[in-house]
Amino acid sequence: MQRALRGVIVERLTAYYENREWIEEDLAGKIRNRMLGAMFRQKSVIEVIETRIGKQSDLRSQIEIKRIDRLVEIACYRFHAVMRTKPIQDIFRGKTTRWYLFSRLEKTKLRKYQLHISPDLVWFTGSTCHLLRFTVQGVSNPGDDRRLENMAMVEWAKNQNGLPANLERYVVENLYWNKGVWNYWKERCTQRDYEDSIKMIYSDMNAMIDLHYRLGLSCDLSQIPLAKSKSTCRNCGHRDTCPGGEDLHRAKLEQSALEMAKSSMKRI
Ligand code: SF4
Repeated sequence: MQRALRGVIVERLTAYYENREWIEEDLAGKIRNRMLGAMFRQKSVIEVIETRIGKQSDLRSQIEIKRIDRLVEIACYRFHAVMRTKPIQDIFRGKTTRWYLFSRLEKTKLRKYQLHISPDLVWFTGSTCHLLRFTVQGVSNPGDDRRLENMAMVEWAKNQNGLPANLERYVVENLYWNKGVWNYWKERCTQRDYEDSIKMIYSDMNAMIDLHYRLGLSCDLSQIPLAKSKSTCRNCGHRDTCPGGEDLHRAKLEQSALEMAKSSMKRI
């Protein structure tokens, strides 16, 4: 649902940008089609998982038609709400005239890494350049890591022709859905924020490379860092094969026992 909603928000803005007609009555159909397309693609993945685990996947319950109807309803509600937010209203009212849409699939090269750090929407107010991402399912209190993750959009911007070279001309923004409303977070970029965001990217990439080696060729998921809460696992695509998906508490205990056993073996 989340991807379908973000896709349709971008589609609406693109239609406006290109001066194409937008038929509001088609909204539910558009969202439904996007969701069905994603589910169709997911179906073959579920089949592979089921062959591997030898039983029906829990993810199958997420593709029931009744559930889809409810999700389409929720997505329509969020769509109408986002259309009333300030950045979008400013565009529709002609207050913001210089604005651009970008794809999250765009890659930015940072040394040997290819990163997905582009914003969804960029616009100018005077000399300030705004970089915004839609987070269709956010958390109530986006912590420092989420802040720096957003700041990484400045690295993307620095690589674009026509966008400012001066970091302090950027305001990084996030429009995120939480507790039934769209919340708006924004912060002007500083040299320090920018540097911290780059440091965070390197440390995340190193952690991922380390994890990749720890998992080994068999991709043993018993070694992955587990989620903090059960609610995170509820919609996770790995929950059939990840030990945390079945019983997070037990998986954590088993994992720490395994870690202890490993470290005691190293000492011998
Ligand atoms: S199922 Fe596993 S991978 Fe998915 S969120 Fe839970 S702990 Fe993380």
